Amino acid sequence: QTPIHIIGGGLAGSEAAWQIAQAGVPVVLHEMRGTRGTDAHKTDHLAELVCSNSFRSDDAQSNAVGVLHAEMRLAGSLIMRCADAHQVPAGGALAVDRDGFAERVTAEIDAHPLIEVRREEIGGLPPAEWGPTIVATGPLTAPALAEAIRSQTGSDALAFFDAIAPIVHFDTIDMTKAWFQSRYDKVGPGGTGKDYVNCPMSREQYEGFIAALLAGEKTEFREWEGTPYFDGCLPIEVMAERGPETLRWGPMKPMGLTNAHDPATKPHAVVQLRQDNALGTLYNMVGFQTKLRYADQVRVFRTIPGLENAEFARLGGLHRNTYLNSPTLLDATLRLKSRPALRFAGQITGCEGYVESASVGLMAGRFAAAEALGQTASPPPPTTAMGALLAHITGGHLTSEEEGGKRSFQPMNVNFGLFPPVEVPREAGKRLRGKEKTVAKKHALSARALADCRSWLGLGAVDAIAAE
Ligand code: FAD
Repeated sequence: QTPIHIIGGGLAGSEAAWQIAQAGVPVVLHEMRGTRGTDAHKTDHLAELVCSNSFRSDDAQSNAVGVLHAEMRLAGSLIMRCADAHQVPAGGALAVDRDGFAERVTAEIDAHPLIEVRREEIGGLPPAEWGPTIVATGPLTAPALAEAIRSQTGSDALAFFDAIAPIVHFDTIDMTKAWFQSRYDKVGPGGTGKDYVNCPMSREQYEGFIAALLAGEKTEFREWEGTPYFDGCLPIEVMAERGPETLRWGPMKPMGLTNAHDPATKPHAVVQLRQDNALGTLYNMVGFQTKLRYADQVRVFRTIPGLENAEFARLGGLHRNTYLNSPTLLDATLRLKSRPALRFAGQITGCEGYVESASVGLMAGRFAAAEALGQTASPPPPTTAMGALLAHITGGHLTSEEEGGKRSFQPMNVNFGLFPPVEVPREAGKRLRGKEKTVAKKHALSARALADCRSWLGLGAVDAIAAE
């Protein structure tokens, strides 16, 4: 049988290789480390963890990444098996001994009879005779290949760093203070004239906010020192440094907006949030990319009227990151629409994090293996953690016509905001409220995800197994 080629032996490439080989299809895995390094990797091991040694929460009942762990274990994940085998104590989190973990992944891949590892850099798009190929070269894709991908996809389609604005869970915005309205009530295609959530600020609130921004602690950005900021991607604190009025003439301008709760008072400044996923559960803070430290982001952004109790699905940041505008470029099984023999996996698809990258590798591997075996490659349902992440990557985002169709796709960790809403069960016939309701909702989302993942994988329901 013709092998499937994989470029990049990181978290995603290693998992993809394992899944394909376990399905009985041969794999050639091309990894450049050993001949060429990256700015972050320190060893030649496959699946090296470049920074923290944590896979985050392992709670599969009330945490989205914990659910993702559980789903990957159900799907026979190599990365999860090696992580479990090299676990170190970390409370409710799954943290690993980084060397033991990566050595184990490398040994298992090297020992698999259907996987051949070639230590070489791939300097361009793969030749046609390779046939189906998975590109899993990660956030630090080597420049020659990145350039080749960019020429295949178009210059706007591959980003080299992410300037991320915070994303808020919609149900934590206080709509007694905020209101829906598009600037000048403009109705774009598919819009209603009420596409943005607006948070008003008085002069005192605005001045206090600017002072807090300037005083807030910023993260270092060594990798990009000396790099000019891209147009439209200036961090808000950099804008604030240019003068106290800069933000009021930029992303916080109050023009074209009337406070629905107090039409007579003109807001001095307005923070706008735009719908970030098709489900409408997440909203991003427009133009609020920032280098503020996470704790300061939460503290400062919760001073914004309407966001006092905001829960953030992700906080802002600025990182070196090579990633595709996947929602427009990739199909539902991660194939490049303009060249379907090429599939992408891992962080380059616009997911974020070790576990998420490995899970996208797992899915890409399964899709590629199914195709090679003449079977249908069916994506996991969007109610699963894997399916929710895949839907985010391949289409669950929106672009804003009002902002000239600028893409709003941002890399994202898995979180419950990506899952379709679930009915919260009543307890003893009573409607739950507050914290109890939040906990019950997370339990219901987790239970639905795991049940649906089992049926996607063709596994029996847990109850049926217990009864056997
Ligand atoms: P990688 O694991 O980076 O694997 C890609 C592989 O492709 C590498 O082995 C690379 O050598 C190889 N490669 C690249 N180009 C070529 C080529 N042309 N030919 C052959 N091989 C090639 N996530 C977290 O969850 N926690 C963290 O603490 C964390 N810290 C991070 C710190 C930094 C500096 C960076 C850049 C990212 C961090 N991430 C973190 C994010 C991310 O989840 C990891 O980078 C993750 O390793 C991505 O998995 P991947 O398989 O997509 O890419």
